[in-house]
Amino acid sequence: MSHIQLNDNITNLLERVRRRSQKSQFGNSDILVLAVSKTRPAEDIEAAYACGLLDFGENYLQEALIKIQALQALPLVWHYIGPIQSNKTRAIAENFSWVHTVDRAKIARRLSEQRPEGLPPLQVCLQVNISGEASKSGVTLAELPALAAAVAELPKLQLRGLMCIPAPSKTDADQRAPFRTMRESLEELSQQLPGLDTLSMGMSADMDAAIDEGATIIRIGTAIFGPR
Ligand SMILES: *Cc1c(COP(=O)(O)O)cnc(C)c1O
Repeated sequence: MSHIQLNDNITNLLERVRRRSQKSQFGNSDILVLAVSKTRPAEDIEAAYACGLLDFGENYLQEALIKIQALQALPLVWHYIGPIQSNKTRAIAENFSWVHTVDRAKIARRLSEQRPEGLPPLQVCLQVNISGEASKSGVTLAELPALAAAVAELPKLQLRGLMCIPAPSKTDADQRAPFRTMRESLEELSQQLPGLDTLSMGMSADMDAAIDEGATIIRIGTAIFGPR
């Protein structure tokens, strides 16, 4: 993608997010746009950084590590947003600032144990399987309070909130319903666990609905970098 096109996409996106959040009842005034850079070369990330983006999300560990290494001179914030196998936790704990996809206590314990001493706590969101799809990762709403309590105890993790990837749907009302449940679930959890402030929800196709329901981080690939 040309740098002119990328710059246009980012300018338009930030303006769209700003406007939408201003007119939404639950809209947040400082939504973080997380640029999802999976499958994109390091040059595209560097170009997006030059357009003002700092936070990048990666799904595939091996691919991410190569880019993190190549771009280590830049002050980028890396977010892991893919599935986590046990044998990947060490590299994730060592190389990322955020993990959005924690859905098992065992994985959380390993991330905490393996987080290097000199680094600040790993910022964590719990992935909720909000549409109850057999194919998707994430805890059920019923399992959520116990997992959240367990993660909140871990010394090298800071539990920030919840993340979801709802089943695709077309209408605004259908898109908003799962996001609303997420917002309500975070409110409920917050009564037991202070300091939760993050709803990582909304992608290119459903960001408006997510913003309307109080997203604090939207994870955007296609609307920034074009189709994969
Ligand atoms: C790929 C991906 C995104 C970005 O999706 P787009 O539709 O390209 O914006 C967001 N979140 C996760 C977890 C992803 O895997």
